[in-house]
Amino acid sequence: MLKVEKLNVFYGGIHALKGISFNVEEGKIVALIGANGAGKSTTLRSVCGLKKVKDGEILFKSKNITNKSTNDIVKAGMTLVPEGRRIFPNLTVTENLMLGAFLRRDSEEIEKDLDWVNTLFPRLRERKDQKGGTLSGGEQQMLAIGRALMSRPDLLMLDEPSLGLAPVIVGEVFRVIRKVHEEGKTILLIEQNALAALKLADYAYVLETGRIVLQGKGEDLLSDDLVKKSYLGG
Ligand code: ATP
Repeated sequence: MLKVEKLNVFYGGIHALKGISFNVEEGKIVALIGANGAGKSTTLRSVCGLKKVKDGEILFKSKNITNKSTNDIVKAGMTLVPEGRRIFPNLTVTENLMLGAFLRRDSEEIEKDLDWVNTLFPRLRERKDQKGGTLSGGEQQMLAIGRALMSRPDLLMLDEPSLGLAPVIVGEVFRVIRKVHEEGKTILLIEQNALAALKLADYAYVLETGRIVLQGKGEDLLSDDLVKKSYLGG
């Protein structure tokens, strides 16, 4: 579904992505893991058209989307759940969710999807009239994921969904991501929390200073010595 080929991205003189290539197959969860500054966010920003690519190619559903506008990319069927969630604190849960459907005109289908999201996340239904800002961190993450689903994406991209959450809440958010995957969504997950990401992912790539240094099935990487030493605390 997504094919990234030899991507090079710069911030001025800083060579942030040094020829990275990876694939996300339809129906899979693929994780990109790596330490702070490895280039994970830059990769996602490039894929969504938020950061210009110097060279390389990004194919989405076989179409070249390299350096296309974010609007066109969202319309083509991918949605990003940004780092830090960025929900609207003064809007209600339902209003936040409906914002995810702002490019759609099929009101009956939107209502159905709202019901589907509320069924997927009962916690959001219980809090539907509550202001987004009053939700807990984990609930806000669910809201951000639910909002992204309201655009009916073929590919859902998550930027560090575990960031700033207590370990027990991380478990809850990852269970939600698994549920979304079981509903048939293809997912690209960016994570510093290698353990949680590798447990969930069908396939994963390890990013170090702008290069992919290792790739494999999630379960295989969990037992890889380099991964254990560098990312799983020995
Ligand atoms: P984090 O988890 O901290 O977000 P990351 O793996 O997502 O890390 P990126 O944010 O993609 O890493 O950063 C990759 C490299 O690009 C780093 O060296 C970073 O300092 C640099 N970089 C990122 N954004 C900018 C920017 N706006 N201007 C200059 N350099 C940047």
